[in-house]
Amino acid sequence: MFIDQIITEIWKPVTKQYKEAYEAAKKLSAEELYERHIASEMKYFPYIGVNMNYIDTCGCPYRMAGGQLSGCSMCDYQSELAKRQGSLLALREMSPALYAKAVKQGFINSRGENAKSNVIENVSGYDSLDHSEVPEELCEELFREDIFEDAPFIYNVEARASTVTEERLKSFKKSVANRKRVSIDFGVEVSDEWIRNEWLNKSVTNAQIQDAVELLHKNKFKAVGNVLFGVPGLTEEQMIEVFVNSVLWMDSIGIDKIVIHVLNRKQYTLQGYIYQKLRNDEELLEKGLVQGEHTGLPWVFSVIRGLEKLYRKKSDIFKKAVVTRVDVNFNSISNKICYNEAEGEESNKYIDYINGLALNNKYDTLKEMVETIKQDTAYKAYEALLEKQKKCGSFADTFKLMGKKLAQCVGGDNWETLYSEFEIPEKFMQERGNKNE
Ligand code: SF4
Repeated sequence: MFIDQIITEIWKPVTKQYKEAYEAAKKLSAEELYERHIASEMKYFPYIGVNMNYIDTCGCPYRMAGGQLSGCSMCDYQSELAKRQGSLLALREMSPALYAKAVKQGFINSRGENAKSNVIENVSGYDSLDHSEVPEELCEELFREDIFEDAPFIYNVEARASTVTEERLKSFKKSVANRKRVSIDFGVEVSDEWIRNEWLNKSVTNAQIQDAVELLHKNKFKAVGNVLFGVPGLTEEQMIEVFVNSVLWMDSIGIDKIVIHVLNRKQYTLQGYIYQKLRNDEELLEKGLVQGEHTGLPWVFSVIRGLEKLYRKKSDIFKKAVVTRVDVNFNSISNKICYNEAEGEESNKYIDYINGLALNNKYDTLKEMVETIKQDTAYKAYEALLEKQKKCGSFADTFKLMGKKLAQCVGGDNWETLYSEFEIPEKFMQERGNKNE
């Protein structure tokens, strides 16, 4: 598949580190590996009302499938941890019991014995329903016995819609039997299946998402869906349109909580690659699809406009939708966050406004905020960018152009062969290919 080849290429240097670490670790015994890992600290991010505990595992099973790292194109939660994860994979294979103990110790090293719990505690790997990352032994260590002094009001774990099965939920339920509320969080990203799978490389269908929601409800779990603001490589207006449609669709299929993630830029992502390779491409500059240093990030003005458009379409959506904090310090991998014309104070005041919404719930101020941003001196540059981006044409035209540029970067002399694999289906062309967005 076209996008999978692109992402596999982007991740090649990390694959090398991961494999080398794995091969070296295989030469040690399980006990030696356990000793190596018990001093590690799990990554932990406290928010108001929710703590994010990213347990130190062998990595995302979806990204690692097939031996070459690939995975979702907009995501990089792994690259800086590849060596440690390669070593943990060896331990996971040799002794699931010692692996589980090492992962739990990482939690204790970070939070302490009998940690004080927040209202919501996210205690999670990348896909906590996948046994290759979170075996039964680890579920037992983390959920059977108390790791908190007092149980949190809600436990949240992260998974993929494709691993939410009746069998897995039933066995997971046994490990968390004494917990009253458990929510399972999974990435929807966008409602358009073609964009999700052929551009974001997610490999999850809409039917799988709908089935997952149904199964979770049947088994008394809450369904939490993540949605992306900012599909890499699209125009600002297209990003807004995809975002609004996606949230409305997620609401319509009964997802209990919708968590909005604003695209940030990390090295081993599609947006990171577009920035590294294409930020000065003349044709893309001319159409406003790259913007020098700003390439690969949405403008904060777009985020505010997107939220306001959503509020206009369905004002009560924010009873279940929330924006995650836009903050460079709340991320496990080095990243760059969205900004307007320039980074710094002028952008930060709007980022503070967005972050404030999750706490003060003043979504009714969005309309006024849209009027305020129009008075900002940077808004002129934003409007000029929107004008340029009109030259991109439809969604299909934009994807075709960006796909061609990516094929040229990755495929070299054989780029046309690679590009020939990038097919936009008739249905998408009919729905998204004919109108000028
Ligand atoms: S978004 Fe989730 S499933 Fe996809 S690569 Fe990242 S961690 Fe893995």
